[in-house]
Amino acid sequence: MNDRIYLDWNATAPLRPQAREAVLTALEAIGNPSSVHHEGRRARQIVETARAQVALLVGGHARHVTFTSGGTEANAMALSPAIEVAAERRPRDRLLVSAIEHASVRSGGRFDAPTIDALAVTPEGVVDLEGLAERLAETRRKGERPLVSVMLANNETGIVQPIRAVADLVHQADGLLHVDAVQAAGRVAIDIGALQADLLTVSAHKIGGPTGVGALIRRDEMLHFPMPLIAGGGQEHGRRAGTENISGIAGFGAAAAAAVAGLAADGARMAMLRNKLEAGIADISQDAMIFGTARERVPNTVLFAVPGIRAETALIALDLEGIAVSSGAACSSGKVAASHVLAAMGVEPTLAAGAVRVSIGHSTTDSDVEGFLQAWRTCVATLGKSRQGIAA
Ligand code: PLP
Repeated sequence: MNDRIYLDWNATAPLRPQAREAVLTALEAIGNPSSVHHEGRRARQIVETARAQVALLVGGHARHVTFTSGGTEANAMALSPAIEVAAERRPRDRLLVSAIEHASVRSGGRFDAPTIDALAVTPEGVVDLEGLAERLAETRRKGERPLVSVMLANNETGIVQPIRAVADLVHQADGLLHVDAVQAAGRVAIDIGALQADLLTVSAHKIGGPTGVGALIRRDEMLHFPMPLIAGGGQEHGRRAGTENISGIAGFGAAAAAAVAGLAADGARMAMLRNKLEAGIADISQDAMIFGTARERVPNTVLFAVPGIRAETALIALDLEGIAVSSGAACSSGKVAASHVLAAMGVEPTLAAGAVRVSIGHSTTDSDVEGFLQAWRTCVATLGKSRQGIAA
């Protein structure tokens, strides 16, 4: 399996060596971070070191970081009508989420279905700011207090959303803004203060940390969660009960520190490889459609389709050639589902059904890209023969 080429970093990034080492070291440490003895204090120190490292990843304060079991839980924690600024004791009664959010946001957290609305995106794949302004004006007229959730970078297209502009509109309407930054972290610089996001989600396994750990970060001390998603022993200052996943958190911190240290150089290198991938794809099939090129994107993601070639077939053919990539939307059942992102952008369904996502990372090499392009050329030559059988 050593000669395989892994280009599915948006699904899960390979574990960074620094994260592996931190996980192993933490596994050896005995002690519960809540205990007062030496061993407990040592475990606490591991958790708090990681908290500071994760805070740095998003330009936030360590005391504003709450560790969770991943991006999904952080999103579920954020999407609560009970969220409070200071001690206002008035629930949020409307949730607005962009139509291209991850399923964990579109499911709406603890909001009831009738109180959740989708926000349209433009054909270029960014949230429609005029539409958002109109929707917020409507919430004002109705006296509603909205919570809005818009992601920083989309997991399928890599398109970066205009978060600062969204935040300004949301705050003018007395709303709060949650930003899912799972796919942006480690790929572009993030500053929660500059973005003016009230809450921000990150996940360890997308930046080279272990799976099963993430964080929800508050911008402001004033934001409270009076009804924790998981109540119990009062860990994480009462925001998330349960003995901390010390080794996972340690790995998350180490991955965050490595991502921050390498951000500028890795970003430039990934952009160069991404451009090479896109030039190669366009060279192999002149009719290839690369999505999102009109907008700013994270430097590691390429989403493309060739008319007449289905994603399922392409993924299997590439896998046989030793290449791991994904379809537009990966599905937990292993089946390729229609992409809600491309549908929201108004992409024609038969073209969307062919969307293949190639996502790279800091350790992707030039020869990985060349290997992919060589394999893709072979696949197109084979699969292209049956193209006439599929409506283009
Ligand atoms: N948000 C986005 C944009 C994602 O891409 C993902 C995972 O694919 C998640 C949230 C969920 O993160 P986790 O796998 O850590 O639960």
